[in-house]
Parts: sequence; structure tokens; C-alpha cells
Amino acid sequence: MGVIDETKQRVDIVEIVSDYVPGLKKAGRNFKALCPFHPERVPSFYVFPERQSWHCFGACGTGGDVFSFVMRKEAVDFGEALRILAQKAGVSLTPKQPDESQREAERLKEINEAAAEYYHHLLLHPSAGEGTRNYLAQRGISDKTIEEFQLGFSPDSWEALREQLMKKGYQEDELVAAGLLVEKEQGGTYDRFRNRLMFPIRDIAGMVLGFGARALDDSLPKYLNSPQTLIFDKSGALYGIDRAKSAIRKQNLAVVVEGYMDVIVAHQYGFNNVVASLGTALTERQVGIIKRLTKSLALALDADAAGEMATLRGIEVASHTFDQKVVPLLTSAGLVKYENSLDAEIRVMVLPPGKDPDDIIKESPEEWGRLLEEAPPVVDYTFDLIVSKLDLTKLKDKSSAVDQLLPLIAEIKHPVRQAHYLQKLARLVAIDEQNLASALSRLKRPAKLKREGEIVQLEESCRPSTLIPLLSSSDPLAQYCLSLLVHYPQLRSHATELSADLFPHSEDRQIFLAWRNATDLDSMRQGLDATLEEHLDALSTKALPPLNEEEQEHALRECLYRLQERWLKDLKAKEEWLISDVQSEGSATELEEIQQLAVRLNTQLREVFLQRKGKPKR
Ligand SMILES: [Zn+2]
Repeated sequence: MGVIDETKQRVDIVEIVSDYVPGLKKAGRNFKALCPFHPERVPSFYVFPERQSWHCFGACGTGGDVFSFVMRKEAVDFGEALRILAQKAGVSLTPKQPDESQREAERLKEINEAAAEYYHHLLLHPSAGEGTRNYLAQRGISDKTIEEFQLGFSPDSWEALREQLMKKGYQEDELVAAGLLVEKEQGGTYDRFRNRLMFPIRDIAGMVLGFGARALDDSLPKYLNSPQTLIFDKSGALYGIDRAKSAIRKQNLAVVVEGYMDVIVAHQYGFNNVVASLGTALTERQVGIIKRLTKSLALALDADAAGEMATLRGIEVASHTFDQKVVPLLTSAGLVKYENSLDAEIRVMVLPPGKDPDDIIKESPEEWGRLLEEAPPVVDYTFDLIVSKLDLTKLKDKSSAVDQLLPLIAEIKHPVRQAHYLQKLARLVAIDEQNLASALSRLKRPAKLKREGEIVQLEESCRPSTLIPLLSSSDPLAQYCLSLLVHYPQLRSHATELSADLFPHSEDRQIFLAWRNATDLDSMRQGLDATLEEHLDALSTKALPPLNEEEQEHALRECLYRLQERWLKDLKAKEEWLISDVQSEGSATELEEIQQLAVRLNTQLREVFLQRKGKPKR
């Protein structure tokens, strides 16, 4: 992995932006603040953690990734931004041998293993660990379970772990890299985990990657995780997977819960196919791990409002993985697509209000078994969820149910299943099934969530019914476009007017800008930061199919259309996220503000769209 990719993977845009913008506040699943680049009174600057991107919906009307943010904020070039971020991420800019980072990873696992042993040893210590052992006993955790999960206790000390591990021969900077020590601004370090119950988080092979830690007093946060390190990434780990993998394979079912305690208690009671996502939402990478073991997944999440949202988000993320090309906004539709293509099943375990899996299992293991048995498939769950918010004696609510559920039914490929749910809907709303069936046949596209407020309707192809895949570490479409431009100088006139915003990754964007300012490859190289030379080499040596002049133009035009369309859809999707976040969690004034933003954005989008439509098509 190159330093650019490595840095990108190890920094979190939210953390970086909040270093510069202290007013950054959570808004639903995203973050917002007054724009740091233009004066304003109502925040229109947003950071999207899932995309690792930012966007100013106000006067700037632009956005990008973490590199472009730092470049703009620090007024530096790409190379300098990379240096700043690489330093924050602990990435060395001198190129590494691949086996060197491999060795480093092994070393970090070894250090975490040693820390786990130390914490576990302290928990078992007659006096030091007594309070924590009492807490665990009171939560009904057996000694055997403590042993199996190697639970631990981090002492209320700023240097106990550092001293212990340095005595064992580990260096201070290695302990920082392992996430166990925190560097002070004025120099020196201190133990990250103090007076906490420690849960070692292992990979599927059983190596300790990091820790989850629960406060034993009133300290906040109540739960603290290891930071992102070379080996640990919260979104790529599943708690308990090392102990659950064979049960998951054997039972051909994985049950995903939220908390460490839920996993531990489940295993103690013999439910060994249970794992936890580290946070409320299930991520793409976590689902990727499970997918290798089974295609059947049950999501068991808290019944309170947050749990319900998390379930929906979990479903949404699951759909990212299972259908790489399409990320539907109506999340259940994504799961149905997955069920279609892999002949798999996803069920949603709805837990009684106010109860965690932990409580249910302890009170009645049979109840847990029953809930799992009765967990409805995702389509039925979606029916219930939507219908529970409606009064089906009212005409308006009936049509709302049809508007929301019919598109989901349209996604179901299996004719018998589709007929089954069509019948179910017809009965629910007491509408003739034939009428619904003809409405269904008219539906060609998946549903969009209906929203209130005055949102300007856009042309069909401009709708965000599908999104581009999650921002991955590379962007093949942009790179194909760039290599066409680099290979074929005569294409220049077709792309000089292009907006650099079409290239979401800063490394591609920088190459594009250098290309625009240069006349040939050599002058382009001179205008480019040294850190990007490798990237340019890769683009200029990319093997392209032999194309005559006409085909080259055609290929580029296709590329540009797709880039532009992707950009529009992405922008529109971001706006829809904002609206849905604000609708669910924000105040009325916030909703009003965001709707004003949305109207502005829609005008902007419409202009671009009409412009594009006006251009002669090939
Ligand atoms: Zn701005």
C-alpha cells in the first residue's frame, strides 16, 4: 500500500476537521459547522464520516476528501498536506518494504497480547481486581467466561501499563503506535485506559487487535475503544468473531448484537454464533467478514428508537457489501437485492422495549431462542415498521403504505415471494390485488423515501435512487478518464472546462489540475508534487485498448458523462441524508434551514443537469 492510501485509511476526516473547526457538531449521522472557508451565520459546512468527505452547501459549493480540506485550510500543496496528515496518522513517508509493515503489524499484535495478559492478570489479582470481579459477578459473568474472553482490569494509573510493558522491552513509541499510550502535547505519554474493565478485541485468528474498555466509575465516555492503528480499525473488527466462527459455520447463521456484554453473556449461555459490531451500526467490512462464514444473518438490536435507527442503518450498510454496484437509499431494498442474488436470508430480531440481549438471555435463554426463531425476514420487518407508523383506516395512510412498500415488492425477483407480499399488501390496505399488480408492473425503479417539504423534483436520471459505492481507496472511473487524457493529447480541448470537483480523491484531482496547467507529460511532471509522481506513472503506463481518434473521443465523452452524473447523484444523496437526519433528530428550525439549503442545491443541480441535457449527445 502506498503512503497516500495508508494515510487515507488511517486518518478519520471527522477528527482532522475538528482539529481545525472546534465548532463541528454531530447532526444525525453527519457533522456540521459554520463553514471555515467563507463567512456565514447558518452552518452549511458538512462532514460525512461514511464517505470520509466534506462539502460546503453554502457560498463555496465545493467539497472533497481529507487532503483537499487540509490543503485549503493550511493553504498548502498536496505534498505538504500529505506530510501533515501522514504525521498525524503515524505513517512514515519513506517507502516501506511490504514485509516491514507486516513485521510492524505482528509486533503491534504482540504488544496488545502482552497488554491483554497484564490486564487479565490484574483482574485476577486478589486485591487490585476485586472491585471489577465483583462488578462482573453481579452482572452474572462466570469465572470460566472471564478466562475464555480474557477480560481484564486497567488500573487507575497514568503509567502502570507503560512501565510494565517497557520493562518487557517494548519501546514507548511502539506502545503509542499500538494505541495503548497517548502522547501529550507538551511531550511524554500516559496510559490510555485507566480504571476500566477491559475487553480484548481479536481478529478471526484470535490475535488481539485492540481493546474495548468500560468505565468502572462515572468517567466518560462509558465505553472507550482503542484508536485506529495499523492493525485496529473499529469498522473492520467484530467482537467475539474468534470464538464465534465455528458456531456460525456450523449453524449457518450469524447473530449480530451491539455490546460486548451481550456477546459474552450469549456465549456463556451456549449461544456461540453471536458477535458484536463495535458501535451501533454494522459496517461494510464487518459484513464482509461474516459473509465468508455464512449467508444468513440476523440483526438483534435494542428496541428503543436509537436501536430502531441503528437497525435501519445496519441494513443499509449490509446492502453496500452485498451489492457492490448499487447502494439503495431505501435500505431494505438493498437487502432484498442481496437475498435475490445470493439466495440468502436476512432477518431482523426485534427485542422487547428497554431490553438488551444480555438481559433477555439471562432472564430466559428460551426467550432468546424464541425471538431468534421468530425473527421476521427483512421484508416483513419493513412492512411492520412502516405500518406501525400509519393509521390504515385513513386513505392518506393507505396510499402512503402503498407508496413505500410497493417499490420494495418490485425488488423481489422470486415470483412466488413477490406474489406473497403483494397479496399481503393488498390485504393490509384493503385494495384490489389486481390494481396493485398493475401499479407494480408500472414500477421499474426502486423506491425513494418520500419526504415532506418543498423539494424541487428532478429528472429521473438525476435522482439518487442509487449511489456510487462507498468512497474506496481508489477511483477506477476517474483514473480511466485521467489516463485517456494523459495518453491522447488531442483530447485536451474536450476537458479543459471540466470542474476539478468531479474527482473526489485528492490525488486524482491534483493530477487533473496539473494536466490542465501543462501542455505535455514532461511539463505536467514538473508541476506535480513529488509524492504524486508514482500515481502519475501508474496512469501514464496504464494499458489502454487500441482506439482510433473517434473512439478516443467517444471513450472520453462517456467517461465525462459518467463522472458528472456520479457527482450529481452523490451531491443529491448527501442532501437527502441531511434531510433525513434532520427530520429524525433535528429541530424545526434546523429542518427549515436545511430545506432552504436543499432548494438552493436543487437549483444548482437543475442548472448543471439542463446544461448537460443541452449538449449534443454523441
Ligand atoms: Zn463555505
